[in-house]
Amino acid sequence: MDFLRPASWEEALAAKAEHPTAVPIAGGTDVMVEINFDHRRPEYLLDLNRIGELSEWEVGQEKVRLGASVPYSSIMDHLRAELPGLALASHTVASPQIRNRGGVGGNLGTASPAGDAHPALLAADCEVEAESVRGTRLIPIDAFYTGVKRNALEPDELIRAVHIKKADGPQQYSKVGTRNAMVIAVCAFGIALHPETRTVRTGIGSAAPTPIRAKEAEDFLNAALEEGGFWENGKIITPAIAKQFAALASGACNPIDDVRGTAKYRRHAVGIMARRTLGWTWEQYRGAGRTLEGAA
Ligand SMILES: Cc1cc2nc3c(=O)[nH]c(=O)nc-3n(C[C@H](O)[C@H](O)[C@H](O)COP(=O)(O)OP(=O)(O)OC[C@H]3O[C@@H](n4cnc5c(N)ncnc54)[C@H](O)[C@@H]3O)c2cc1C
Repeated sequence: MDFLRPASWEEALAAKAEHPTAVPIAGGTDVMVEINFDHRRPEYLLDLNRIGELSEWEVGQEKVRLGASVPYSSIMDHLRAELPGLALASHTVASPQIRNRGGVGGNLGTASPAGDAHPALLAADCEVEAESVRGTRLIPIDAFYTGVKRNALEPDELIRAVHIKKADGPQQYSKVGTRNAMVIAVCAFGIALHPETRTVRTGIGSAAPTPIRAKEAEDFLNAALEEGGFWENGKIITPAIAKQFAALASGACNPIDDVRGTAKYRRHAVGIMARRTLGWTWEQYRGAGRTLEGAA
């Protein structure tokens, strides 16, 4: 196995163009597990760790440009206000050691349906900045996941950054695991309220072949909130609306039975998480300190 160590982004793109089968390695928390277990024996490893800009971020007017290798611990420490959903999701990833190494670029590279960044990215809305020697393109997150552990990157492309909309309202992330830490999601749910556009977006993890949005649930909720004037009057969301939102989120799942949980349990749990996270975020939107009547 050859180890390629580009010193700059341009060198990395050139190396990937020359060796399209080269496997990029950032934190290595997925790649090294695969190599250690002999699940993968790439001819070339493309080490991205000398490229400092991949671990940097910029906070713009509307978006955060998050370098592909920014570790979860930095997101938790520095971007909680701008990216609350992703910061909450980062909290649930593994252990401090893994959170210091692993990042969103690696999560996207692996594209596991259980990756914790995905529901938060889907709910917040973002674009993946992919680049090759041929040029740069922004891939909408909805188009990024193409199959089980597959993504929309071309063989010569690398992820440079992710452009994530800054929160304009409350966001939440909820995850069910077989224990409280160091655990892959049995299933997970992310939600983001976008008061500026009067929309709610969602993300579901580990309950379908790819991370997905619960689009019917979003459409139903967006219409119900608009119809009832909820965004203006800040009224409590009725139990009937919360229940239907949960049922539609549950119905969006297409899970499997596996060692971590059954399909039936996953559907059920996603419905519960959808209802709870809607309640939490809506209560935050209405103003701190009030009690949630009815929707709990
Ligand atoms: C003990 C343990 C516990 C874990 N727990 C969790 C958990 O709770 N939740 C969770 O989501 N994940 C978990 N993981 C998985 C892993 O930590 C995450 O997926 C992490 O985000 C990977 O980031 P990384 O930088 O280490 O990626 P790497 O391992 O370096 O790379 C992962 C994949 O992305 C590709 N890649 C990396 N950077 C780029 C780039 N810039 N452009 C293109 N492709 C790229 C690599 O080629 C590879 O295919 C765990 C892993 C371990 C070992």
